Amino acid sequence: MSNSHIMKSLSILTDDVACAKQLNARNVRILSTGGDRGRGVFAARDFLPGEIVIIGLIERMERTRTTNSFQLDWNVHALFQEPAVIVNHSCDPNLAIVPNRFGAYDFVAIQQISSDAEVTWNYATTEFECVGVSVCLCSSENCQGSAGGFSALTPDHPMLVAGFYAPYLKNARR
Ligand SMILES: [Zn+2]
Repeated sequence: MSNSHIMKSLSILTDDVACAKQLNARNVRILSTGGDRGRGVFAARDFLPGEIVIIGLIERMERTRTTNSFQLDWNVHALFQEPAVIVNHSCDPNLAIVPNRFGAYDFVAIQQISSDAEVTWNYATTEFECVGVSVCLCSSENCQGSAGGFSALTPDHPMLVAGFYAPYLKNARR
């Protein structure tokens, strides 16, 4: 590859990241939840099921799982940039994760989301084990009390049945 080709590829990728950040800034806002869950991410417009709400971008790779990291593969963990890193867990989420072209995850609406609603995802759909939510404050009807990670989901869990989880977990021994 010539230098000019490499420069061109790099500038396309940079544009792509800038585009992703713009889309995120248009789609969501980071606000206080007004409760014990601290900050959260809220829809800035209405979404239909299947729409990308947040494009995840990697801030840095992590050596081990942290309370804020996302698991991308066995022993692969990354910290995502805001707003993705701020999205709270729910046992009954309105977002699912899908691998994206940045090596991170996109957050896709799995139901209608109204402007100003908080957007959430289920941490167990990326984390095989979960250290982030020892006591769950999601207050959904089917709240599991804590987010124990993928390994703690029952086989009939709706997110499992729908296939809304990280591809690497397809090989998980259950
Ligand atoms: Zn819960």
